[in-house]
Parts: sequence; structure tokens; C-alpha cells
Amino acid sequence: MAKSQEMHRARMFFGQLEHGKDLFDELKEFTTKHGVRMGLVFAIGAVQKACIGYYNQQKKEYQFQTIDKPMEITSLLGNISMKDDEAMVHAHVTLADEDGNVVGGHLAEGTIVFACEFTVQVIEGNLLRREHDETTGLSLWKM
Ligand code: ZN
Repeated sequence: MAKSQEMHRARMFFGQLEHGKDLFDELKEFTTKHGVRMGLVFAIGAVQKACIGYYNQQKKEYQFQTIDKPMEITSLLGNISMKDDEAMVHAHVTLADEDGNVVGGHLAEGTIVFACEFTVQVIEGNLLRREHDETTGLSLWKM
């Protein structure tokens, strides 16, 4: 059965990221600056290039690919929770090229902003903490 816990919405931010900055690093810095320890992240916009990860379930490790071309951020969806007493941003992106073809994956450092509008919904409740999960090799929520 699915495990869950009830949370409550708190503050909400709307913002935009600076041209030429690293998308992942900027979201991380935003959460640190505002003391966000749990939340939801949404964004749309465009990138100059991207680095996205795919988790190889056999090898239990991420494989990263760099896509060196301008693309639309058709969707960025993520969450913020605690890992090793630090807030961690975990986000996935779907990106579209000029022909409308999409690629997607785990957002990694190396994704450079062209323009980006983001929303962070701060959540309050029992802090969600990530711990190493033997079965998947991932850091998953301890519930
Ligand atoms: Zn991921």
C-alpha cells in the first residue's frame, strides 16, 4: 500500500531566473536563501542547452547526457525535501526542440537558462527526509 503523510501549503513564490545561469544551481540557491525545506517546484521557459539524467536501474547509477541546443522547457516539475540535513531539489524536465520533439529526464547541473519563470510552493508538516534505499539504490523518502 502507498505510504503518505498529510502536508499543508504555506508561502508561495513566483520568480524568474537570470539568463545564462545554471537552472539547477539557481533553484537550489533559491531554496537555501529562503529557507525552504519542503516544497513543490514548477517552471516553464527555455534553455540554451541541457544536461539531463536517466537512472539505469540495472547498474543503479545515473547516466547523463548533454543536449547542446536551444529548447523550450515545456514542463519542469520537482520537489524539495531534506537529505543529510540539507534541502535537496529533485526535479524532472521535459524539453522541446524547434520541431516539437521532446526529451526529458532528471534535471542536472549544466542546464543553462535562456529564460525561466518558476513557482515554488512551500509545504509545511513533518519534514520529509531522504535515505538510501537498498532496493533501488536511490535516496528515497523515509516514511
Ligand atoms: Zn530524478
